[in-house]
Amino acid sequence: MELTNCSNCGAVFAKNVIDVCPSCHREEEKAFQVVYTFLRKQKNRAAVLAEVVEATGIEEKLIIKFLKQNRLRTSQFPQLAYPCESCGEPILEKKLCQKCSAQILTKWDVAKEQVQQPEVDTKKRPNYYRLNDNEKD
Ligand SMILES: [Zn+2]
Ligand SMILES: [Zn+2]
Repeated sequence: MELTNCSNCGAVFAKNVIDVCPSCHREEEKAFQVVYTFLRKQKNRAAVLAEVVEATGIEEKLIIKFLKQNRLRTSQFPQLAYPCESCGEPILEKKLCQKCSAQILTKWDVAKEQVQQPEVDTKKRPNYYRLNDNEKD
């Protein structure tokens, strides 16, 4: 059994698919219900993030977490933009805006090229490494 720290309160718990301990998870579920009940009302559909925080009393970062988990779908609630993790631009999906993800992809490409350059002793590398490399591409 692997132990990990709750990303919310720091309590140690047995690692599983969720990243918070059982008691924080229960709180999050309650919070989700509050937010979701609020947003389901027709008149609240167009609420922006700040309005949802204000009306529900739920922490903004928790609502953003639900959005990133796709539990709250920005396709249903198109006003619920949240800040890009890199530049803070409002975004509706993933963690980064298109500009920042494009930049990161470029960085990855550069990093890949740098890794690929010292090709000198590829022959010494066991075959299974090479197979793994191929799979990633
Ligand atoms: Zn916790
Ligand atoms: Zn960005």
